[in-house]
Amino acid sequence: MTMTEIKIELTTNKKDKPDINNLGFGRFFTDHMFVVDYTEGKGWHEPRIIPYQPISLDPASKVFHYAQTVFEGLKAYLTVDNKVLLFRPESNFKRLNASNERLCIPVIDEELALEALKQLVEVDREWIPNAPGTSLYIRPFIIATEPCLGVASSQNFQFIIILSPVGSYYKEGIKPVKILVEQQYVRAVAGGTGEAKTGGNYASSLKGQELANKDGYSQTLWLDGREKQYIEEVGSMNIFFKINGTVVTPALNGSILHGITRDSMIQLLKAKNIPVEERQISIHDITEAYHNGTLEEAFGTGTAAVISPIGELKWLDERIIINNGEIGEVTQMLYDTLTGIQNGSIPDQFNWTI
Ligand code: PMP
Repeated sequence: MTMTEIKIELTTNKKDKPDINNLGFGRFFTDHMFVVDYTEGKGWHEPRIIPYQPISLDPASKVFHYAQTVFEGLKAYLTVDNKVLLFRPESNFKRLNASNERLCIPVIDEELALEALKQLVEVDREWIPNAPGTSLYIRPFIIATEPCLGVASSQNFQFIIILSPVGSYYKEGIKPVKILVEQQYVRAVAGGTGEAKTGGNYASSLKGQELANKDGYSQTLWLDGREKQYIEEVGSMNIFFKINGTVVTPALNGSILHGITRDSMIQLLKAKNIPVEERQISIHDITEAYHNGTLEEAFGTGTAAVISPIGELKWLDERIIINNGEIGEVTQMLYDTLTGIQNGSIPDQFNWTI
């Protein structure tokens, strides 16, 4: 797949654009998509941008049965002076290939995937919403398409990129959420697939999410799969705490997704001379810090929300209220700085935007 080989077929039937004030998340899709096929022996071939359309697959395709699939999530932003910024897209394609390795999917050429993405975003540029907080969500994914029920890696795959204009995550301003610490189910274990961005991880997390919602909590806090005491992630975000002036986040241990927002937050904190540590954190460390009054802030990080402040954690029968349920100072600063870099209103000293 080389960049000159990307064929472009433009739609002759443009869709109506959705109401920019009512976009929600992942409900509307642009006029075009990028597709490239993989065939054993032939490699990745026929990269193309085509009108957005349904795909036709044999019901025996392996992806439907054995979940051999990976995906990514990133965003394009429109700046005040009408430029289009992508935030750390190379990191997403690098992580896609790390997921590919784990799921026995052939790796993609990261440079060419980025070129395809740039061309696709350019073709559908008029779909990037310009209201504050809105963006164009980008979903690259790969599916196993070989029609065969044998449990073995697929011989054929499809790599597709679709685009979705999305609304502001925080319509009424950034608001702390209540989180339930899950004790029965786990999201991932070391040696499993937690470090990969693959569909099965999300299917198996739905039950915990359902239980949390039933109890009036918005997300699940996942503990480790072996001892159920070490903190891993919150919903589909990485997690940070501020304890006695130091920001801590669980060290990457094989079952935690290598979040790109997580990495950006660590770099931002270091640049601001705020102490930050990546280490193992148990739920007991958190209750202890709460009881001795040193638990100052908590927040989740991810592409969708950037930052989601945590106002309450429920662990067994205890309700841990953080910063009176209000957003903390460091949380707010990180949110303002990162979203500023993403929308071009703050200079990007890290070279994160393209
Ligand atoms: N953990 C999980 C399980 C996720 O799905 C995501 C979203 N990709 C994250 C963490 C945050 O990653 P990122 O900051 O790269 O969006």
